[in-house]
Amino acid sequence: MKEITGATKLFGILADPIHHVKTPQRMNEHFARIGYDGVLVPLHVRADELASTLAGLRNLRNLGGLIVTVPHKTAVMDLCDEASDVARKIGAANVLRREPDGRLTAHMLDGEGFVRGLRSTGNELAGKTAYLAGAGGAANAIGFALVQAGVASLTIANRTAAKAEDLKARILDLFPQARIHIGTPDPSGHEVVVNATSLGMKEGDPLPMDVSRLEATQLVCEVIMQPENTALLQAARQRGCKVQYGAPMLACQIELMAEFLGVGAK
Ligand code: NDP
Repeated sequence: MKEITGATKLFGILADPIHHVKTPQRMNEHFARIGYDGVLVPLHVRADELASTLAGLRNLRNLGGLIVTVPHKTAVMDLCDEASDVARKIGAANVLRREPDGRLTAHMLDGEGFVRGLRSTGNELAGKTAYLAGAGGAANAIGFALVQAGVASLTIANRTAAKAEDLKARILDLFPQARIHIGTPDPSGHEVVVNATSLGMKEGDPLPMDVSRLEATQLVCEVIMQPENTALLQAARQRGCKVQYGAPMLACQIELMAEFLGVGAK
């Protein structure tokens, strides 16, 4: 990191809890790599203090923007001034850019990060059949991004079926030509299989899908970064599938967030 001076641009990540977030190290490494005079710091904010925190932060004239994570991704939508189409349809954002006049513009990059992560490992999505386990925050973003990336069809499977139906309806609102189905825990018959549930983070978690139905021709993708080698990925490898770890999604989001925040070499 460059020496912090009065000219250094300030960025923050809003989260609760905060201790586990990896974005400060990654973004500050990115700033150093491109020679940018900026610093990103962790900001521990409780949900009931988010509105007052944002009201104050938007007055900071050297603030470039904010990264937003659990549990604030949905709540920031009511507290920002503008939002991208995708963020509005998903109803959640993970980055806020501070405009020179103090307005905050929201965008959601989880899904684009996932797609760019796949491309970074040589996997294209256009024309492929995709299976998505989950209908929470990450799954919403990834569902929109898969359709935007041109998948031939998307099957959504979630424990709470109503949330899968709701996600389907909102994707169809933005992309009326998309082919979207509601699925079961059986991922067979799809070329790309994605776990976007939180299952696999904790030891003893149930598997997010029926792994006995995985096929050797499938690419099986994980959003979970810790542990790196989830039970799903272990089972997928045993069945001969190609696998995609959760880490490239975050690595690519760092680049995308920097682009959105207008961070360039200085
Ligand atoms: P949410 O809480 O919004 O969604 C959780 C999802 O998991 C829901 O679909 C939920 O189903 C499902 N789920 C949870 N428990 C169970 C269970 N016992 N049985 C079946 N389904 C279950 O979480 P997020 O979408 O925000 O996060 C999901 C994961 O994505 C996390 O591990 C997070 O760390 C990761 N992530 C990774 C990123 C990266 O860059 N690699 C970026 C963002 C997130 P239901 O709707 O029925 O409750």
